[in-house]
Amino acid sequence: MIFRQLFEPESSTYTYLLADGASGEAVLIDPTVETAESDLSVINDLGLKLVYTLETHVHADHLTGARKLKQLAGSRIAGPAMDHLPCTDVGVEEGTPLMIGDIALHPLFTPGHTSTHHSYLLEQGDSRRVFTGDALLIDGCGRTDFQSGDATRLYHSIHDKLFSLPVDTLVYPGHDYTNRHVSTIGQERERNERLGGGRTLQAFVAIMDGLDLAYPKKIDFAVPGNERCGECPPNIPEDMRRLCDVTRQG
Ligand code: FE
Repeated sequence: MIFRQLFEPESSTYTYLLADGASGEAVLIDPTVETAESDLSVINDLGLKLVYTLETHVHADHLTGARKLKQLAGSRIAGPAMDHLPCTDVGVEEGTPLMIGDIALHPLFTPGHTSTHHSYLLEQGDSRRVFTGDALLIDGCGRTDFQSGDATRLYHSIHDKLFSLPVDTLVYPGHDYTNRHVSTIGQERERNERLGGGRTLQAFVAIMDGLDLAYPKKIDFAVPGNERCGECPPNIPEDMRRLCDVTRQG
């Protein structure tokens, strides 16, 4: 298997490239529109074919590269079926893996950051990786104060579903703002300041209620844009509009 952790610095978003070496089929989890072309160069340089882009949720902090990558590379747009987005080619749901060649990505329904958020579990022999989107972050979690967020649901998603994975499962988050790259379920269960160390539901909800976070800068155009799989909506700032232009190079 081929694996790369890619990064978009403005929104501190991690995009994950997974590919089946034998078939050359590749998927990008949570691609951003800013890095669509550079992500595609990585894929092309490795001699791979992008077959899917896959979203963990409808993002509020960046625009997805799904539509742009579909135009550039012919990839199919995958995301949670329960979002019912008309632009999605493949709706995924827990219980049915998404196959990329011989690689099976297992969707896990992990609501709380949004009401339809999914994580993706990859098992290979004895090793496991879970791509947790904005549910579980390293020593943190996604916010729950907008866009159908719900702290109680997030607590249950993390405690009941993610923390029940084997302790050595590698945790790859959707963001990190301080240059951390990977954690484990065991580390988060023990050390996560909001959710680890046996933190109760009541304590977690109090922490989330007290965060008093700023209104997300991009939410007003990112959410409608992502509901159309990364189309630039009319209210996108002029300096970002160029991101939606598809320019074939070479
Ligand atoms: Fe998010």
